[in-house]
Amino acid sequence: MELMDKIISLCKRRGFIFPGSEIYGGLQGFYDFGPLGAEMKNNLKALWWNWMTRKHDRIVGIDGAIITNPKVWEASGHVQSFVDPLVECKKCHHRFKADDLKEKKCPDCGGPLTEPKVFNILVPTELGVIEGEKTSAYLRGEASQTIYLDYKNVLDTTRLKIPFGICQIGKAFRNEVTPGHFLYRQREFEQWDLQWFCHPSEMEKWFEYWKEERMNWYKSIFTHPENLGFYKHEKLAHYAKRAFDIEYTASPVGKEMEGIHWRGDWDLSRHSEYSGQDLSYTDSETKEKFVPNIVETSGGVDRAFLFLLLDAYAEEGERIILKLNPRIAPYKVAVFPLLRNKPQLVELAEKIYGDLRKDFATVWDDRGNVGKRYYSQDEIGTPYCVTVDFESLEDNAVTVRDRDTMKQERIAISDLKNYLKEKLNV
Ligand SMILES: [Zn+2]
Repeated sequence: MELMDKIISLCKRRGFIFPGSEIYGGLQGFYDFGPLGAEMKNNLKALWWNWMTRKHDRIVGIDGAIITNPKVWEASGHVQSFVDPLVECKKCHHRFKADDLKEKKCPDCGGPLTEPKVFNILVPTELGVIEGEKTSAYLRGEASQTIYLDYKNVLDTTRLKIPFGICQIGKAFRNEVTPGHFLYRQREFEQWDLQWFCHPSEMEKWFEYWKEERMNWYKSIFTHPENLGFYKHEKLAHYAKRAFDIEYTASPVGKEMEGIHWRGDWDLSRHSEYSGQDLSYTDSETKEKFVPNIVETSGGVDRAFLFLLLDAYAEEGERIILKLNPRIAPYKVAVFPLLRNKPQLVELAEKIYGDLRKDFATVWDDRGNVGKRYYSQDEIGTPYCVTVDFESLEDNAVTVRDRDTMKQERIAISDLKNYLKEKLNV
């Protein structure tokens, strides 16, 4: 079986990801995160958020609405591009104006093209309760637009001065022509974005800073950081001086995970023009007035989630192991009584379980034998398993087993929490 199929199967079997509305036959391009997937995704988002807003003291976060005034999408250029018939590459999904192409293949990768169509990737919706009097709006096609809309409010309500950043994690929706490859190309997905506002003369410096900084963050959470790389875009938007993707190069499907974009003054200028509001910035010391330039880092949360699973998956004989970074793993610790029918063991194990739960995401397992429980925890990436055995009743210690080394250590119950805190680095 191919790696991707193994991951899809594991996700379903263990409750990471379920196909959306499965009992009705599903809906293409939609997925639900199950109990383990929701834990892992929350861990991932918390890591991103804390790293953005605490490691960097000039960044604040927002949580914007999914539906905005429809004019936003005129300013962003999303509506304009509906007018021209486009063809889409079935392989790399890049789109081109049908009239511009000399040959019937993708200029970027040589892949086959769809028939020319008028694409509207935005997902329309209607507001209002009276039929015939509804207003049309769109679910946001990219989360970042909300940041531009709130840029002035953030400036006015905080003490931030340029350079500074606004970050956000949020859902976006796209009518993809060809959704597929599991979480890679969905119609509803989540993005984590940073818009970094700076003086035009400092773009070079900040672009390079964020390019490296974002790569370092991904490297800190992937099991095999050597599988991460940059892809340099040669074809650039007219306002962009450079653009890079952070890629998961070992991906069996698409590789793109996050874009580092030079957006210049494009976004704020457009929103100034379309809204009639002055979005320029005046330096309080030099009195210089300018439109801030933007470095954007825009990543796919679901893509990172998928790549982390692909990257962590390992097989050792019969064992399937998710070698996930402990900070991301859905559970940090599993607790077992050696035998489920020995009340003394169960009682002590329950006490330890209840105590560990206060500090760590902890799971209980008393099914089958200990070997099977280890296998079961390895498969969902639980870094440590704690077994309460008959000796525990005598020596007040437990066996702690490490997922990656399979080594077992005897640890005093009174030291257990500190031991785990140190090992898990939490
Ligand atoms: Zn292509």
